[in-house]
Amino acid sequence: MNTQIVKAFGTEAPTEDLKPLSIERREVTENDVEIEILYCGVCHSDLHTARNEWHGTVYPNVPGHEIVGRITKTGKGVSRFKAGDLAAVGCMVDSCRECEQCKKGSEQYCEEGNVQTYNGHEKYLDRQTFGGYSERIVVDQDFVLRMPENLDPAAAAPLLCAGVTTWSPLKHWKVGPGTKVGIVGIGGLGHMGVKLAKAMGAHVVVITTSPSKVADAQRLGADEVILSTDRAQMKAHASTLHLVLDCVSAEHDVNAYLRLLKVDGTLALVGAPEHPLPIAAFSLIPTRRNFAGSTIGSIKETQEMLDFCGEHQIVSDIELIKIQDINTAYERLLKGDVKYRFVIDMASLKN
Ligand code: NAP
Ligand code: ZN
Ligand code: ZN
Repeated sequence: MNTQIVKAFGTEAPTEDLKPLSIERREVTENDVEIEILYCGVCHSDLHTARNEWHGTVYPNVPGHEIVGRITKTGKGVSRFKAGDLAAVGCMVDSCRECEQCKKGSEQYCEEGNVQTYNGHEKYLDRQTFGGYSERIVVDQDFVLRMPENLDPAAAAPLLCAGVTTWSPLKHWKVGPGTKVGIVGIGGLGHMGVKLAKAMGAHVVVITTSPSKVADAQRLGADEVILSTDRAQMKAHASTLHLVLDCVSAEHDVNAYLRLLKVDGTLALVGAPEHPLPIAAFSLIPTRRNFAGSTIGSIKETQEMLDFCGEHQIVSDIELIKIQDINTAYERLLKGDVKYRFVIDMASLKN
């Protein structure tokens, strides 16, 4: 297998900062596309993985799964893309393609486990995959997305994870006109959930712990805002929502949010805190509420979401950073101090 050396930023241990690294990538095989990365969003999952909070991180770890760039090379079997195209890669770069879930186009639920963009298994080189905090990436064409040309590519990068991770459950639970949806945790995922649910026609209720986001919520598209630390406000909204999308990255009391659901309502957890979240039986039983989870979205859903965002001019609210500022950005992410997504200008990797 021919390989190439690529500049990247990553970490060699859970307690170490991210720093410049050289990584090896495969050269394009028949069905691959090589992309020069222009922008990469900073997802809280990058931080969870770099610091081994979910366990199982293989080091060195190069995070990044909100990737937008220009195609530089394509394999002989690639027909859907050509050099010069704007393209994107999200959280998955492969799957088994044979199981029931893959066959029905739900690769994110592949029974063998989808191959994650970083900390997955690179089958050609038999080691971990490396993500988007790097100059270039080589990905099978079936896992490459088309970017709408009318969107700012930096602000559109977070659509590749934050966008589709909120889009998929909003679609699955049929959010639209006539539904009341609560979005908990207004970070990268949450603020995209607000924008998308609003564009789908739902009545959107923002539920935040941050007083500074109360004022901002309407600008993002919220119809109502609840400051979750205010018990009176939470009580006033009890049993009013059809769906709650929980995008919280840290420990929190899920029961408080379950109580906002109507009979038969669903709380869909997309946030993935390090430790388990206790649930009281009586948060579910008396009102037949559902507690569910959802992971990212399929390639088909990702493309649909990107096209929808192109049509409706939806992008993330971002703060553009240099790769050299990534460790400070992680600390700020932990404090909820970003409105609402850091995106790395990958040109800074050349410095
Ligand atoms: P983020 O930008 O850091 O946002 C998380 C938000 O959670 C914060 O802005 C804050 O919002 C809220 N929050 C933080 N600590 C809290 C606490 N103790 N109690 C209540 N709320 C708290 O993170 P993100 O990138 O959006 O990711 C969110 C989570 O989703 C992470 O755990 C990430 O790993 C996970 N994720 C899952 C999937 C999936 O496929 N399921 C995909 C991507 C990410 P407020 O200030 O509004 O309270
Ligand atoms: Zn992510
Ligand atoms: Zn599969």
